[in-house]
Amino acid sequence: MKIGLCVVLFSSVAQANQSDIRLVIHGGAGDITEKLMSPERQKEHEAKLTEALQAGYNILSKGGDSLDAVQAAVIIMEDSPLYNAGKGASLTVDNKVELDASIMDGRDHKAGAVAGVSKVKNPIMAAYRVMTKSPYVMMGGVGAEQFAQAEGLDIVDPSYFIIESRVEQLKKVKEISHKIDQEKGLDAALYQDPLLYDFKYGTVGAVAVDSRGNLAAATSTGGSTNKHYGRIGDSPIVGAGTYADNNTIAISTTGLGEVFIRSVAAYDVVAQIKYRDIPLAEAAMNTLNTVKGMGGSGGIIAVDNKGNFVMQFNTKGMFRGTIGSDGTPQVAMFAP
Ligand code: ASP
Repeated sequence: MKIGLCVVLFSSVAQANQSDIRLVIHGGAGDITEKLMSPERQKEHEAKLTEALQAGYNILSKGGDSLDAVQAAVIIMEDSPLYNAGKGASLTVDNKVELDASIMDGRDHKAGAVAGVSKVKNPIMAAYRVMTKSPYVMMGGVGAEQFAQAEGLDIVDPSYFIIESRVEQLKKVKEISHKIDQEKGLDAALYQDPLLYDFKYGTVGAVAVDSRGNLAAATSTGGSTNKHYGRIGDSPIVGAGTYADNNTIAISTTGLGEVFIRSVAAYDVVAQIKYRDIPLAEAAMNTLNTVKGMGGSGGIIAVDNKGNFVMQFNTKGMFRGTIGSDGTPQVAMFAP
């Protein structure tokens, strides 16, 4: 089982000044190694992560809001077939796409989320509308799609999201799942960890602090490959996949959703800082250890209101990047 091997813990921490802006992004964690990725594919990821960072930086550097910056970065990744969010998302057991996303404002703890949407081109924009234009926090399925349409968001045919490599992947996953079912029984079949057959989680996320010290976080995903239709992961769940609080941090997670929900992963990091004053890197590591202890793996990005940040994971790699006041994007995917 792959998780047994996932002992690498990588952390990068940076110190910053009060006025610093900072954007940190991820495109999923997993068995992301040089050996498993062609140089061409590496370049594609580097270019796309850089583009996402620059989209957010363009907003932050002009004094814009962290909420707009995280959305801008996530939209670039949702539109890219490289990630498991928006176009190119992983497929359900019945060959469909069901997308989840959430966003949170660190100023007032307002949050918005959509779950199980199949027609909204950019689910993160729908999550933002739920937060700003409805009295709710989360909307799902057809109701969320109708709401997004009424809000004037782009609605697409569900086939827009489906790319050939995901169709092939689903076929392979079904074969492997079938074998696992036969060899190990029902428990293994229920344990739908994408690392068993996909080698990576491809959820995307962004966290940012703007020049006023306001924090925001956003996460978007297609969930796990071969998931049962109707399955909802951690990404749209405030406190599991996403959290933002101006007094502590903004955080976005990626990994085995069921475990991140059960460990309330995002808020687990926040709570350690809020109630125990534990340093960010240590808090994130504690939470990843909890996740691991519960049979999961994945990664965390987080930033505080001074621009200190972490990009931490207990898998072999994580697509990630950051940009600060000096405007120099830094991207990476492998463990150092
Ligand atoms: N956390 C996501 C989910 O379980 C998967 C991922 O991070 O890629 O839906």
